[in-house]
Amino acid sequence: MRVLGIETTCDETAVAVVSERLGGEGGEILSNEVLSQIARHAAYGGVVPEIAARAHIEVLDRLIRRALERAKTEAKDLDAVAAAAGPGLIGGVLVGLTAGKAMALALGKPFIAVNHLEAHALTARLTDRLDFPFLALLISGGHTQIVAVKAIGDYRRLGSTVDDAAGEAFDKVAKMLELPYPGGPQIEKLALEGDARRFDFPRPMLGREGADFSLSGLKTAVRQEILRLQTLSEKDVRDLAASFQAAIVDVIVDRVRSGVRLFTAGEGRAPQGLVIGGGVAANGAIRRALMRLCAESGLRFVSPPAALCSDNGAIIAWTGLERLKRGLTDDLDFAPRPRWPLDAAPSRSHHGKA
Ligand code: ATP
Ligand code: MG
Ligand code: FE
Repeated sequence: MRVLGIETTCDETAVAVVSERLGGEGGEILSNEVLSQIARHAAYGGVVPEIAARAHIEVLDRLIRRALERAKTEAKDLDAVAAAAGPGLIGGVLVGLTAGKAMALALGKPFIAVNHLEAHALTARLTDRLDFPFLALLISGGHTQIVAVKAIGDYRRLGSTVDDAAGEAFDKVAKMLELPYPGGPQIEKLALEGDARRFDFPRPMLGREGADFSLSGLKTAVRQEILRLQTLSEKDVRDLAASFQAAIVDVIVDRVRSGVRLFTAGEGRAPQGLVIGGGVAANGAIRRALMRLCAESGLRFVSPPAALCSDNGAIIAWTGLERLKRGLTDDLDFAPRPRWPLDAAPSRSHHGKA
């Protein structure tokens, strides 16, 4: 089986072709073309929805052609076309979703509307052998949540942020430190040479029941420290970055620990593993801390390569493939869903048997 996947929910235009791995589990990525729009948005310090939507339109058809060429696949040999239908910026979602439907219609192939968060959660099954149920930590610019992944289409959100997303916190703090957008990688780099103990920033929600996050207080504490210092030396910037990152790492580890407990209580069994996804999952300090947590709790840690954690088409194609195998295809009138919580899926229109 071979599926083409289209991703346009935010600021990456991405198309990929993924097939089943012969004789084994997981998938094979035949092509994975990603065009980031970061340069177009950098001047504004964040993603501008209208610019994003127009940029998707400009490049998508070329990118589809290139993904097929690289995959040495002719469109007629695809088994299905998948596109992310949300959650995300409505303008961008419309572009990818409409292109995916048009392709499926023209080819006479099944169409699959993919939930972008589901795609992040299922990435680990593309790269590794991993059975249900497992726990997924999704940390990106727009999302921060801990989800019990019980089966395809069966998810329970155990916790999410009540204010800022993790990537948003990184980006906002970076902006205060006058670092270029996107701020996450900049902060990680500076933190390597900073003193993480110089500033004792708050760790919101630490030890709190449940698995919710709150990150805006941490951001405010960094702002107050910057105001107090008045002018920032290079060392100040490094120490602020390191101290901020240390705080967010502690919060994430605590929330995941609590999420594992919730999972085990709810499912009556421990998760088969912890999976991370989203652009922030590229952060080495976060990865190492979670690896340690998993080692301590006897939990398998599955972290797809950073390139598959951030937005790309392969995770959409893979989710399409997982759904196609179960007969879960969608109608061509499937509407875009700018808001689409993972555990609110039952209203979708399936032809499926599962
Ligand atoms: P969505 O939330 O819809 O998945 P997005 O575009 O906001 O989309 P991603 O593209 O997955 O999210 O990730 C981008 C975010 O990840 C940015 O906020 C960026 O600062 C953050 N990020 C990327 N690399 C790192 C890193 N090494 N450390 C911390 N944050 C990072
Ligand atoms: Mg992005
Ligand atoms: Fe994403």
